[in-house]
Amino acid sequence: MIPKVSIHTHTSFCDGKNTAEEMVVSAIEQGFSVIGFSGHSYIPGEDYWTMTEQGMNEYIADVKRVREKYKDKIEILLGLEYDVLSRCDTKEYDYIIGSVHFVKGKYGDIPVDLDVNTLKREVAESFGGDVYSFCEDYYRQLAGVCERTGCDVVGHFDLLMKFNEHGELFDENNERYRRMALDCLDKLMKKDVIFEINTGAISRGYRTKPYPSKFILEKMAALGAKITLTTDCHSTSVLACYYDEAIEYAKECGVRELWFPKNKKFVPYSI
Ligand SMILES: [Zn+2]
Ligand SMILES: [Zn+2]
Repeated sequence: MIPKVSIHTHTSFCDGKNTAEEMVVSAIEQGFSVIGFSGHSYIPGEDYWTMTEQGMNEYIADVKRVREKYKDKIEILLGLEYDVLSRCDTKEYDYIIGSVHFVKGKYGDIPVDLDVNTLKREVAESFGGDVYSFCEDYYRQLAGVCERTGCDVVGHFDLLMKFNEHGELFDENNERYRRMALDCLDKLMKKDVIFEINTGAISRGYRTKPYPSKFILEKMAALGAKITLTTDCHSTSVLACYYDEAIEYAKECGVRELWFPKNKKFVPYSI
């Protein structure tokens, strides 16, 4: 029996719509056994979607408060989605999701997942229109995410695909793209790290399938990567978005088990 778990959950301390307590109450109602919070780490100048510096302390206190209040009903974990541009003390957290949300451009950091038109303009301006060179910079940073953040889980491996389900930005079958993605995977496979199947872009209307793309997930499965399933959710209504369908997708790609935390430790469940 696959438990209902999401360890990638945002609250109103960052860009989520609900409080931690509202998320917990809804998770209990929806039959979740574990909910892990993963607020966006503070990045100077970006705190309209990340937590503020002070907010991170309040977030820690609030998650601990609800963990105590609901401890008989659900396991609650305190995590952090740690962007490579942040500098944080991570000792308070039960686990870390390491993520890359920016690529360096000519005039500043380019957000990978903000909107497709910004991205097109930035690729033209900073990369002379060579979108694959932009993608290479993303994967180069992602390959170092473990060293940079000390993460347990790699967040949304191919976030570049958020606006690209139908090839709006680049061709995911392009040889150069496939090679850079799989090279990055090879490097991360040397670490003891878990990869996400992430349904967050579905709940926000950008995609109809989870990340990562089929060729990546198939390769992860073939290499025996540890894989988890998260909904990267930003509100109570999408806590379980595409959950069962994503398990079917995982099976289609050859994944045989999914790793979820139980008593704070990630353990495998057969699917
Ligand atoms: Zn993210
Ligand atoms: Zn997230």
